[in-house]
Amino acid sequence: MALMSVRNLKKTFPIRGGIFGKKIGEIKAVDDVSFTVEKGETLGLVGESGCGKSTTGRTILRLYEPTAGEVEFEGKSILQYSPEEMRKARREMQMVFQDPFASLNPRQRIGKILEEPLIVHGLGGAKERKEQVEELLKVVGLDKFHMNRYPHQFSGGQRQRIGIARALSTKPKLIVADEPVSALDVSIQSQVLNLMMDLQEQFELTYIFIAHDLSVVKHISTRVGVMYLGRMVELAGRDELYRNPLHPYTQALMSAVPIPDPDAGKERIILSGDVPSPANPPLGCAFHPRCPYAMDVCKEVRPEMKDAGGGHQVACHLLDQ
Ligand code: SF4
Ligand code: MG
Repeated sequence: MALMSVRNLKKTFPIRGGIFGKKIGEIKAVDDVSFTVEKGETLGLVGESGCGKSTTGRTILRLYEPTAGEVEFEGKSILQYSPEEMRKARREMQMVFQDPFASLNPRQRIGKILEEPLIVHGLGGAKERKEQVEELLKVVGLDKFHMNRYPHQFSGGQRQRIGIARALSTKPKLIVADEPVSALDVSIQSQVLNLMMDLQEQFELTYIFIAHDLSVVKHISTRVGVMYLGRMVELAGRDELYRNPLHPYTQALMSAVPIPDPDAGKERIILSGDVPSPANPPLGCAFHPRCPYAMDVCKEVRPEMKDAGGGHQVACHLLDQ
């Protein structure tokens, strides 16, 4: 059984205008997305900003309420949970943000910040909580004396270690990491990625790892899903996807990844035009205005995700050719 199963997930946000804030349209941030996450794996979710990957991550944890669809965690629909049941379930499903300190009180010491989830979930007395905070700092490669420091006294990489420690505090099974290394220097990025991989083994974690960059998820993922304008367009095992990208959008993203040898025979595919607005997505295949292979059918019929063999799924009419 999959740890998490997401079916036909949709999330729309109203667009309001005028002096009365009347609804004048809607943004389809997540538009009929389905996938599963197996226990112990890392599912990478990749796409340009605005493709709906962050909204997907938040909606499956019900930080946003889904507009439609189904989300099951360990076989149970979490969309039916009451607020109280959801609060309990959140212990098992945590999130790591790009900048975990953006929303935190700069006057709170790290010890307090890490203790807070333990208090919220009623985990342990004061003494156990203090021990646990020390232990959390240790597992992410920090020292217990860091407890008395404030957020601004840490580097970006250290802050992300604290964000990860915070997510780990309730002993979750699933962590959704939303661009956890995007704000970090490249040298620090690999340290944090390696830490996450060590922790995954140590604590049997399952990750959904969101990034805008295919080279970042390559390192850490077992499978990778590519999103475009709120839709999943391709989903495959990591090695299979990088070896054999089938969707023209994935091929374009792949060709933009810098490779060590510029003469390796890879031609860079330059996409024409910008990503269309998710308030007004193109009919048919959302990628058709930019696709070098677009056919007539692409302008009218939305391609469904289909298995191209061996669990390699792709939503493109070329598959039927
Ligand atoms: Fe291109 Fe058509 Fe495939 Fe869309 S369905 S990616 S437009 S070929
Ligand atoms: Mg985002």
